Amino acid sequence: MQYIVFTDLDGTLVDYDTYSYQAALPAIHLLKEEGIPLVFCTSKTRAEIEVYLDELELLHPFISENGGAIFIPHGYFDVDFVVSRSTDKYDVIELGTDYNILRNVLLNIASSEGLSLVGFGDMTDAELSEDTGLDVGSACLAKQREYDEAFRLYGDENDADRLISSIGSKGLNYTLGGRYWHIIGDNDKGKAVRILTQVYRKQLGDIKTVGLGDSLNDRPMLMEVDIAFLVLKANGEHDPAITDEKVTRIPGVGPQGWNMAIMGLLE
Ligand SMILES: [Mg+2]
Repeated sequence: MQYIVFTDLDGTLVDYDTYSYQAALPAIHLLKEEGIPLVFCTSKTRAEIEVYLDELELLHPFISENGGAIFIPHGYFDVDFVVSRSTDKYDVIELGTDYNILRNVLLNIASSEGLSLVGFGDMTDAELSEDTGLDVGSACLAKQREYDEAFRLYGDENDADRLISSIGSKGLNYTLGGRYWHIIGDNDKGKAVRILTQVYRKQLGDIKTVGLGDSLNDRPMLMEVDIAFLVLKANGEHDPAITDEKVTRIPGVGPQGWNMAIMGLLE
């Protein structure tokens, strides 16, 4: 039986404030020792994810921008799968909607509904660094978006309701991460996990999938995997939007909780 581990990054594998995975290193090393694939499934961009993969010396596929695309290193699988495009490093399976379309729709909604929205595309690297706590170089990588616009809504519940229905009326979707709203196409983390799981299953046969997250945008992934873990948010609470019985609630914040969950699983 081979495990495949899918994980969110912000607020889950990496700390909400410091973006450090230090507390999860024991479990990360154990996964590597056991030859268990660790697949990042995050709202982060390809460029941001690659920094973590390089640091951790991981060579597995990953899922960017809330299921916008699956990036599979060339030669990782022997079996065939349908590819949308290829880059010098990856076969890419695209599920998301082009970033420029998402940006345009969001700007139209903001002006037609009179909503105060500020997206990553509206901010300079320095402003985004200030807003996220990322260093300026990392903020620059976070702005290299392809399939998802992250934004803040400055408004009340009524504004949020109008935003949600406007996004829906344009045939698009939204989700909520730890810090930001996201406007996305017909993709989510769960759809991407399902497709990549099919390829792993074709390659490896009998597998068991594991998912770890902290926020509403992780819910589709947690519903898709065999074993689902929810870590505590920085405020010491589990996300109230995730109430599903199959999800195991880990009594640890972010990467501390992540370490507990994986250590417990492999014990
Ligand atoms: Mg998160």
